[in-house]
Amino acid sequence: MPSKTDRVIALVDKYGAHNYHPLPVAIARAKGPFVWDVEGKRYFDFLAAYSAINQGHNHPKIVAAARKQLGKVALTSRAFHHELLGPFLQALCLLTKKDRALPMNSGAEAVETAIKAMRLWGYRRKGVPENKAEIIVCAGNFHGRTTTIVGFSSDRDSVDGFGPATPGFRTVPYGNAAALERAIGPNTVGFLFEAIQGEGGVIIPDEGWLTAVRDICSENKVLMCADEIQTGLGRTGKMFACDHESVVPDLYILGKALSGGLYPVSAVCADDEILGLFTPGTHGSTFGGSPMACAIGLAALKVILEENLPAKAAKTGAYLKGMLETLEHRQLKDVRGRGLMLAVEFRVKVRPLVERLARLGLLAKDTHENTIRFAPPLTLTEAQARDAFALIKKAVAAL
Ligand SMILES: *Cc1c(COP(=O)(O)O)cnc(C)c1O
Repeated sequence: MPSKTDRVIALVDKYGAHNYHPLPVAIARAKGPFVWDVEGKRYFDFLAAYSAINQGHNHPKIVAAARKQLGKVALTSRAFHHELLGPFLQALCLLTKKDRALPMNSGAEAVETAIKAMRLWGYRRKGVPENKAEIIVCAGNFHGRTTTIVGFSSDRDSVDGFGPATPGFRTVPYGNAAALERAIGPNTVGFLFEAIQGEGGVIIPDEGWLTAVRDICSENKVLMCADEIQTGLGRTGKMFACDHESVVPDLYILGKALSGGLYPVSAVCADDEILGLFTPGTHGSTFGGSPMACAIGLAALKVILEENLPAKAAKTGAYLKGMLETLEHRQLKDVRGRGLMLAVEFRVKVRPLVERLARLGLLAKDTHENTIRFAPPLTLTEAQARDAFALIKKAVAAL
């Protein structure tokens, strides 16, 4: 007799495109740092939907805000006004200390929006000749899955078979300020980067790189555009990963935890000289900034602030990292991370470790074959971190 889980998986295999290779776990419900599968087994969620669940699953205040809005009005389109857009944009601007915010849905859409904003600024403000704008990106980047974005990815699986690539992008090594400076030309409008590369394997650049990038961008009249979709909103122990060097980029791209996982909500935040260049008809989104998105986004931001989630991530993250550093295994290569964006790298493939952890009751994801990422909700308590570490220790011992 196939189990409930087997039946769930078989249906997806039969009717879905096979663009994912999920663990054989079918989740039925979730609360805080835990999920339960269709058989009733409980797991720690140490992926937290790639950091979309910083506030914990089904945070009661975000759920209440969504419930309050459900049945009232969900979608107006931007053809009309509604009461919640202004407050949400204001909250985003207060948080980022920027003049304006532009709401979208998925992270990739917000990245596309930032690319358009930087190009527009280049043509209107920097005097770049039409269609000549160049944006510099980093090797090993992950910014999403749209055709333009995968065109400047260095991950073969992301790129191959999906060309031709959109022109206007140039790649430099990650964390290398000199290479960035050399790559800048008269038509360079922006530098798009992650302050820590998440999907790239939790790659942390050397101290001082962000500061150097800020200086180089300012000196060369190039916009500094931080994709903080994964690193932002508390994940690394500060509100934004750029805060670790007190660096302020020209554009922030936010997503994922901006909704606490209840709905796709993303945004670009920047000053008036950049976002003020959009005029009616030049950009838009049917669902972006909907009443539902704004109700949820407002509540999600409020929870991050009220519960001091960045400070909590710093504290619990340091505690968990300290325990991970005590792991002993002859194939263990590196333990790294900031806040609750942690990773353990081995010299061998970690898929067996990931599968063993799942059997023990902890869900995490391998990234780049040899690295396992630990990124639980930021609401994780120290006692829960200790319990989770016991499972990690047991699984590593058996590797
Ligand atoms: C997840 C992610 C994206 C893409 O977000 P989607 O909502 O999946 O489109 C972009 N940039 C970074 C850094 C991400 O981690």
